[in-house]
Amino acid sequence: MKESIYCKSPIVIQTILVSIYGYKIDKIRHGKQYKKILNIINKRLHFSSAELEAFQNKSFRNLVRLCAENVPYYKKIFRKKGVVVNNLKTIDDLQRIPLLEKAELRKNSEIFINDNYKKNNLLKIHTTGTTGTPLNIYCNSYVRQTNYAFYNRFLHHAGIDYRKSRATFGGRITVPISQQKPPFWRHSYFQKNLLFSSYHLRVETIESYIEKLFQYRPHYIDSYPSSIDAIAKYAKEHAINLKGITKGITTSAETLFDDQRMIIEETFGVPVIDQYGAAEMCVFIGQCTQGQYHVHTDYAIVEFLREDGSPAMAGEEAEVVCTGLINPIMPLIRYRIGDKVIVSDEKCTCGCAFPVIKKIIGREDDVILTPEGNRIGRLSPVLKGFPVKEAQYLQDKIHAVTLRIVPDNGYSADTEQKLVLELRKRLGEKIEIHIKQAERIERGTGGKMKTVISTLT
Ligand SMILES: [Zn+2]
Repeated sequence: MKESIYCKSPIVIQTILVSIYGYKIDKIRHGKQYKKILNIINKRLHFSSAELEAFQNKSFRNLVRLCAENVPYYKKIFRKKGVVVNNLKTIDDLQRIPLLEKAELRKNSEIFINDNYKKNNLLKIHTTGTTGTPLNIYCNSYVRQTNYAFYNRFLHHAGIDYRKSRATFGGRITVPISQQKPPFWRHSYFQKNLLFSSYHLRVETIESYIEKLFQYRPHYIDSYPSSIDAIAKYAKEHAINLKGITKGITTSAETLFDDQRMIIEETFGVPVIDQYGAAEMCVFIGQCTQGQYHVHTDYAIVEFLREDGSPAMAGEEAEVVCTGLINPIMPLIRYRIGDKVIVSDEKCTCGCAFPVIKKIIGREDDVILTPEGNRIGRLSPVLKGFPVKEAQYLQDKIHAVTLRIVPDNGYSADTEQKLVLELRKRLGEKIEIHIKQAERIERGTGGKMKTVISTLT
């Protein structure tokens, strides 16, 4: 249905439409094969490291064979680069296959479709990603069910039952953008999901969100970090006690920063369980009950690489390079997804052998360029301890950067001076630093909050 017709319908009709849509996608996500898939993948939670390694190697051999025989892009690239499939035996042989750039995939995603499938019969997942460039990912119902089985395995592993009620703060437009008054949510009845609009969340409206949460009391909340963080900050500031309102909070789609996690956990009194994935279905990293970020190695083969392409060691910052294992319809090998993490060699005490990483850093392109030629990323910690609710860096020329901030109580001219001093330490002396106050930071594609907006290349 057209968005314009939806937006003009009365709320009760919108609720029915949201529920019907929810019913349909739920049928796809948790269809006939779902339970069987879940049973199979649940067993792998108890695999030893050796068993996981054997599983990955076998999956890798199947994947490259399939690519060489049925995927136009890989047929060509293997021939061109002299990649002999019979020589690819373990995941250590991945390095023989060239990296796949995002731009290459976006240029012509259809040559990545397995010949055995007819495009018209496939499900199309449309994604814009944080860069705003659209991309279609093709799959079928079985792949979708597999994907959601993995997601629900992760929830279950973290102590959350996906079948119970939830509240979602995400990027779907379920409330017309022009709407000024509550309700800023719609109930998807069959999914037991109250969909809150991230787009309408601002100081003047937050209280209505909180009231609704008190009334609804969801089993868990699934949110963009920036949305639930805004609610937590407001509640703290107004001494509203949110403890006991929900049993768990999961976050995804944006990088969760330490100070956000702290305030959300403090205000809601439950741990935040963060998950990192992609619409391309080629990586799955999720926190367990112990708070560790596990790389689900039966979902994808994930490499953590240094700038020179060699594998990173524990403690190092690394680029995430993904080889998905669950979508044989559009397989991606060594896909440069554009995010960074800090690698770890720790073992988790939760009993699961999936390797762990220390931290997700996030977008690689979230950097400021300085006149000295430096690329400065990870600027969020700069604001730690400052009375600032939200912030965003804007750069459209090399010699200047603007920091837009939503001030919190106690913000003054003195704060700005100290902020500039703090930023100087990282950005150097040459760049002009402008600070602009704003009432709100506008959300970008899919309602996501972007930390850095740069038009420099
Ligand atoms: Zn664990």
